[in-house]
Amino acid sequence: MIPASGTASALPAFDEWVAEPTWPAIDFISDLHLSDTLPRTAEALFRHLAHTPAPCVILLGDLFELWVGDDQMTQPVEASLVQRLAEAAGRRRLAFMVGNRDFLAGAQLLRAAGLQGLNDPTVLAAFGRRVLLSHGDALCLDDQPYQAFRREVRSPAWQQAFLARPLAERLHIAAEIRQASKTRHRFDGDGRIDIDPAEALRWLRAAGADTLVHGHTHRPSDDEPASGLRRHVLTDWDLDHGSADRAGVLRLTRDGFVRVAPAGG
Ligand code: MN
Repeated sequence: MIPASGTASALPAFDEWVAEPTWPAIDFISDLHLSDTLPRTAEALFRHLAHTPAPCVILLGDLFELWVGDDQMTQPVEASLVQRLAEAAGRRRLAFMVGNRDFLAGAQLLRAAGLQGLNDPTVLAAFGRRVLLSHGDALCLDDQPYQAFRREVRSPAWQQAFLARPLAERLHIAAEIRQASKTRHRFDGDGRIDIDPAEALRWLRAAGADTLVHGHTHRPSDDEPASGLRRHVLTDWDLDHGSADRAGVLRLTRDGFVRVAPAGG
């Protein structure tokens, strides 16, 4: 069923995750888009994971630039990233929700990297409050071409057919997607379109949550896009292109949300 523009679709299932009561802080990060072309960005992530005081870090999607199936772990750069994630996961809890670039991340990757998988959306119960977590792309309802594309590529039939192709072919397709801005655009949707505030509010009410945390739009913000809706939009990371360098962490403690720079300088 295809909902008309602005019309609410069926509500998703809201998974619930209860934070360990001993955690003094929880970090949120998203949209690193890691690949062989972002070595400094990856270093900043692993420095943060080594030095943050938070015993739990939640990666809210688009950790990888593109993920074509868990056998991508056999590639040298991805193998190294996965190994370093697993090392970090030995020191603190790492949770991961897929984004629109790495939605094919599966159980094998989660196991190898030591990541706890979170469904989109998930309600995090922490510090006596309920926080709704989503990558964000599912809420960009005004972007109908993207929502149609999303339904297609998230269907088991499409994924089975795609994953049945040889790895070399899937990697070739990924390289083409990265080259062609038009194809890349299909995966990301229209970057000018924000989440639908009415739908976000509907999600919050159904989830019994007071705050939404999401990424995806690459427009960091702490705002109230609809009455009764508090949201925190995560920044994307890029420390490999000089003047446009950016990286940041959203941290939740018993005192609320704060923005901090990645730990470890
Ligand atoms: Mn995204």
